[in-house]
Amino acid sequence: MRTGLPRVVIAGAGFGGISAARALRRAPVEVVILDRHNHHCFQPLLYQVATAALSPADVAWPIRYILRNQPNATVLMSRVVGVDPAAKLVETDDGPLRYDHLVLATGATHSYFGHDEWADAAPGLKRIEDATYIRRKILLAFERAEATDDAAARLRLLNFVVVGGGPTGVEMAGAIAEIARLTLAKDFRRIDPRKARVALIEAGERILPALPDDLADYAVRALHRMDVDVRTATTVTGCDRHGVSWDGGHIPAATIIWAAGVVASPVARWLDVPADRTGRVRVDPDLSVPDRRDVYVIGDAASLNDAAGQVVPGLAPAAKQMGRYAARVIAARVAGRAPPRPFRYRDLGMFATIGRRAAVARIGGVHLKGLIGWLTWCAAHVYFLIGTRNRFIVAFSWLWEYLTLQRGARLITDAAPSATDSAHRRAAE
Ligand SMILES: Cc1cc2nc3c(=O)[nH]c(=O)nc-3n(C[C@H](O)[C@H](O)[C@H](O)COP(=O)(O)OP(=O)(O)OC[C@H]3O[C@@H](n4cnc5c(N)ncnc54)[C@H](O)[C@@H]3O)c2cc1C
Repeated sequence: MRTGLPRVVIAGAGFGGISAARALRRAPVEVVILDRHNHHCFQPLLYQVATAALSPADVAWPIRYILRNQPNATVLMSRVVGVDPAAKLVETDDGPLRYDHLVLATGATHSYFGHDEWADAAPGLKRIEDATYIRRKILLAFERAEATDDAAARLRLLNFVVVGGGPTGVEMAGAIAEIARLTLAKDFRRIDPRKARVALIEAGERILPALPDDLADYAVRALHRMDVDVRTATTVTGCDRHGVSWDGGHIPAATIIWAAGVVASPVARWLDVPADRTGRVRVDPDLSVPDRRDVYVIGDAASLNDAAGQVVPGLAPAAKQMGRYAARVIAARVAGRAPPRPFRYRDLGMFATIGRRAAVARIGGVHLKGLIGWLTWCAAHVYFLIGTRNRFIVAFSWLWEYLTLQRGARLITDAAPSATDSAHRRAAE
């Protein structure tokens, strides 16, 4: 990898990292993009893998494939473990890597607010492995309930609790309710899957706090129509293999899904710079780290109020915009040109789907809900997928599911363990 050109190392091939790499395709630089996985994951549709509507390959693509036509980009499957800014080195599992410009785009993961011990019982959804593991857990719960004669065990197996009332929590709760009431309704003989109970627990006063009141109200009504028990102002105090507890309450449940909080990847620790409450690095308006002009932090790992004073949210469009912007800054610096104007986030809106024909969307000042919201959600997600094959497969899978109520990926497989999965598995079984 010696080209004589300035080397831009991009850590993380998520939305931000891939956008930065692509935006550098014509710049006179050598791009090295590192990721601990060999694939880029479209996280907004992960819950559909977790609930058996889509297969993993429908929402993830090999990073090499995405960048195959970009001769100045090299892909390395490697885990970043640190940065030495003085020596301009990225430390990886496979040894140090020199950089001239460094873009840190390693995203965020779930936070258990100081209760990491809950992770065993309440897995979060961030990676393909998490999605297949949760899918396994959900489907196994129905299988075990069919097999057992113990009434209390059956009740616990048919209780599903989602913690966290943001878009992911709402989507998971709605999808599990649909599996129980529609997909599996006729498939069992000893249990009635429609009797499964789904609860959505949120610590705040209302669900979907980032969306306007009328859309959140609609989402609650739609969840109620699907018999989802929505409990707001309820702060979870414990999650274990027996169920979920809060002050004065408990639901016995074998399946708990954590969608309640995020924490940034340890970029601040790698750089030895201060972090905000959720571990994000405060960056300057050109997305560089104060006093480290050749290091940029973008996407979910960065904290920024943009040039217009707007807080940049942890969303895919924000990460993509930051990736493209960091690439422009680097290209300008390499060419000795004046830097572009400070970063400005363009708000493309926000969506959450609740189930068939029920979604909410805010696009600019326009609020959409119900069928029109759902169709807009479907169109937007198909549009943002990578590759014609995936767009076609996802659109076809949704149409098929819509017409037949069936979910094509109802497989119980031995999901590869994530950090705590062996314990997850023990808790599930
Ligand atoms: C379940 C879920 C649903 C979501 N739904 C939506 C939605 O509907 N709309 C929306 O706009 N946003 C949604 N988001 C948020 C959106 O996905 C994130 O804001 C976006 O992915 C952030 O992009 P990023 O590039 O910062 O990080 P990511 O896309 O998370 O990418 C980080 C990359 O870094 C890699 N990485 C991490 N650590 C290391 C390391 N140490 N070494 C090497 N590589 C590493 C990871 O493997 C990953 O590929 C959702 C997120 C989740 C988890």
